Amino acid sequence: MMMRDAVIVGGGLAGVAAAIRLAQAGWRPTVIETRKRPGGRATSFVDPRTGALLDNCQHVLLGCCTNLLDLYQRLGVLDSIEWHRTLFWTAGHGEIDEVAAGWLPAPLHLARAFGRMRTFDATERRWIRRGMWRIMRLGEGGCHRWRGRTFAEFLRESGQGDGVIRRFWNTVIVSACNLDVERVDAAVALYVFRTGFLANRWSYTMGLSSVPLVDLYEPALAAIEDAGGSVRLGTSARAISFDGSRATGVVTTGGLVEASCVVAAVPPDRLGKLVSDAVRARDRRLADLDGIDVSPILAVHLRFERTVMDRPHLVLVDRDVHWLFDKGVDADGRQHVHAVVSGADAWMDLDEDEIVRRVVADVWHAVPAAKGLEPVDARAVKEKRATFACTPEVEALRPRSAPGYVGVGGGDVPNLYLAGDWCDTGWPATMEGAVRSGYAAAGAIIGEDLIVEDVPAGMLARALGL
Ligand SMILES: Cc1cc2nc3c(=O)[nH]c(=O)nc-3n(C[C@H](O)[C@H](O)[C@H](O)COP(=O)(O)OP(=O)(O)OC[C@H]3O[C@@H](n4cnc5c(N)ncnc54)[C@H](O)[C@@H]3O)c2cc1C
Repeated sequence: MMMRDAVIVGGGLAGVAAAIRLAQAGWRPTVIETRKRPGGRATSFVDPRTGALLDNCQHVLLGCCTNLLDLYQRLGVLDSIEWHRTLFWTAGHGEIDEVAAGWLPAPLHLARAFGRMRTFDATERRWIRRGMWRIMRLGEGGCHRWRGRTFAEFLRESGQGDGVIRRFWNTVIVSACNLDVERVDAAVALYVFRTGFLANRWSYTMGLSSVPLVDLYEPALAAIEDAGGSVRLGTSARAISFDGSRATGVVTTGGLVEASCVVAAVPPDRLGKLVSDAVRARDRRLADLDGIDVSPILAVHLRFERTVMDRPHLVLVDRDVHWLFDKGVDADGRQHVHAVVSGADAWMDLDEDEIVRRVVADVWHAVPAAKGLEPVDARAVKEKRATFACTPEVEALRPRSAPGYVGVGGGDVPNLYLAGDWCDTGWPATMEGAVRSGYAAAGAIIGEDLIVEDVPAGMLARALGL
């Protein structure tokens, strides 16, 4: 049995995904998780001020998140995802554009909706069409050649002007990648547009959890335990133990957990604290952990005394706040509005009063019904290390989940597997990327490819280079 024991450090999505796949393949995973809840960054927490259970931040998924959806199916929570086929965009003053797929096949399914948007003028809409056409015709090889340069360089080289870059391309990319177009690696951004908006009619559809995020991941605990594994919540890993050539287990606050292999499913800064110099020197994937830069997100929870927002969400163009979500109305008729600012470096040093003042100004701009109304309650949550920053420099450092073979150039620790959204999945820092990395790690352990295929591209889309 010892040969089929795995210890997984981290009970975020990557760790949960790896554990579920191992458990379902007959392995006995032990998950070590510092916090009292599974789900990591994508979970809920109790607000110490009010005692309310709040989601860490609104977490959005798209129809193209095939591995995340597969995990939800395995956990029996797929029905808790609400799908939104219409995306609501606004440049303010109550004018809202509804973006939904029309009857044309992919990649033209959103063309009519984009073509009618009042948020953009005719010149901007023409440039959006041209940009999409260029992205489509690049082909996979063409996209790959843009690795190592920024998306802003790609856009400028394609003739796009500063206005449309800021108002359209950046609005999409800063939300999807948590990084401005000036910094994001072009290949990652191109992947977002090709996979999310162009390849097929389903992928752009937005999924939101209808239950607190933690409820999506709690079923994992029973599933892992039923398979003979265990989840040790409230237990921290201190070090990955190493005998000079192999990992032998994990030293935790509850003692040593021995196993035939170790999956490290924690962010790079945490991993850096778990590995000794000897492990670092032995494993090429760990050489550049310190070079993985991060990007912050700001989430602001506002409660208004009455309903002000009548759409489930709004994408804000050319404002500091990128998204507003309607999180429901409580028994006293107060509406909970959740505002999200991605790539929020400029906000990290502001105090809560100033943050709320600025965010409320954007709410008033986007939602006329809220104008002049101060929130009765406000809570700003800063996540300084929200995600890794998928810049060209960081993209070059993202490691494989599986150890490489020992060869002339050295080798990796052969039974140490890495998982986490920052691994080399090709995806930006997302829940889908985290699950893919967990499936990749479990697959490497079992010796099977466990990655769920992408939603297939439509016929016309394929013919056009997608
Ligand atoms: C504010 C915010 C908003 C986001 N919005 C979205 C979104 O809309 N859509 C989307 O797809 N993604 C979003 N993301 C990104 C998404 O949350 C992450 O990509 C994903 O959850 C990462 O999962 P992970 O398992 O790789 O890492 P984590 O979730 O960080 O999991 C790592 C786990 O390891 C644990 N841990 C760390 N050190 C130790 C230790 N020494 N011992 C034991 N346990 C340890 C941590 O407690 C944590 O639970 C958002 C992230 C943030 C922060």
